[in-house]
This record gives sequence, C-alpha cells and structure tokens, in this order.
Amino acid sequence: MRNWSTPLDEVDLSEDDKRELMCEIGRRCHEMRFTEANGGNISCRLDEERILCTPTLISKGHMTPDDLVVINTDGQVIEGRRQTTSEIRIHLYALAQRPDIQAVVHAHPRSATAFAIARRPLPQGALPEIEFHMGPVPLARFGRAGTPKLVETLEPYIMEATSILLAHHGAMTLGTGLMDAYWKMEVLDAYCDTVLRALALGTIQGVTPEEYEAGECFE
Ligand SMILES: [Zn+2]
Repeated sequence: MRNWSTPLDEVDLSEDDKRELMCEIGRRCHEMRFTEANGGNISCRLDEERILCTPTLISKGHMTPDDLVVINTDGQVIEGRRQTTSEIRIHLYALAQRPDIQAVVHAHPRSATAFAIARRPLPQGALPEIEFHMGPVPLARFGRAGTPKLVETLEPYIMEATSILLAHHGAMTLGTGLMDAYWKMEVLDAYCDTVLRALALGTIQGVTPEEYEAGECFE
C-alpha cells in the first residue's frame, strides 16, 4: 500500500495503481465530508480509449479496486460488474475537451456548495495566494444532474478553469492526475470555508491587484 502523499508520486502508474489511488481519493472525499451516501464521482484516463471511474450507488469511502468500472469514451462500460453513474457525462465532457487533464473529481463539499446554492461568486483578493493557485473558479448555472443540460452549463468555462462550482449542486475539479484533482477540491472547499467564516465577521475587503503587485496593503 502506497502512502499517496503528493501528486509527484503520480508518475507512470499502472492500472492497478490507479485503481488503488482512486479508492484512496474516494476515502479522503468521504472523510472530508465532500461526499455523502453514494454522492460524488471520480474518473481518470487509463489510455486514449479507456477511462476508469467510480460506479453508481456506492459509497466513495468504502470502495475496493474491483468495484471500479472501465468505460469507453462514449460512456459504455467495457470492464467491471457494476453500472456507471448518470453524472459520468460531465467527466466525459471534461476529458474530451481538455487533453491536458487526466482526472476529474465531482463532489458536494459543504462550504463550496453553500456558495453554489447562494449563487454567490467567490470574492477576489480574500486569499490572493490561494486564488492564484486555484485560478478562476466560475459558478456554472444550474443544470439538472444526470442530464445533458448539466454538460451545457460547463461549456463557457471548461477551457479556462480547473475548479468549477455547479449551481444548486456542488463542484468539480480537473487535474493532471487523481491527486491533483483531489487537492484542488480540498483547496476549494477550505477556501470557501474560510471565506464563510470571514463573512460572518463582516464584509471582506480583498487585497487589490495594485496592493498585491506592491507586495503590501496600504491600510
Ligand atoms: Zn453530484
């Protein structure tokens, strides 16, 4: 059993390694309360034709490698005894549009989802270093889960963002590997949790681009 402590470990992984790592990412999503019951789903490329993904109706915190399914780029199951999820459409879309992306995590993390429910864009300059790391985090409009409408809501943002809030649903993150996608989800939800706490104290005055460039705040 590997430690899986850094995305730097995610080089030249075998299919067995990816299955083990996907189960580990599922456990972390469950422990972090990013997923509930059978909520959330995870995918990663095995090669140009095959995608490994979590099946429907399973706790992401309690999967074993043989629970996972392999699908083709049309979403048909080609290996595995379980069925795929109806939410696989957003994974297939992201992987098709972004050849630079290897893995997708979709979850319902509570603080990030709170912003998605309130339809409230994330602030600018609240935590500049974290915002720089996350890049743009757009809030996609509502699309019913499991339908092509949800895919349509991603179209304006899929090429420019690797963390996207889904209105009245949750969030998805795209990564150069499974751990990278998972870390993005951790960073996004931690950021949203911290901002929510700051908002409870009053309005947030973000660091302006000029102050950031100067390296200090003037007041
Ligand atoms: Zn969902």
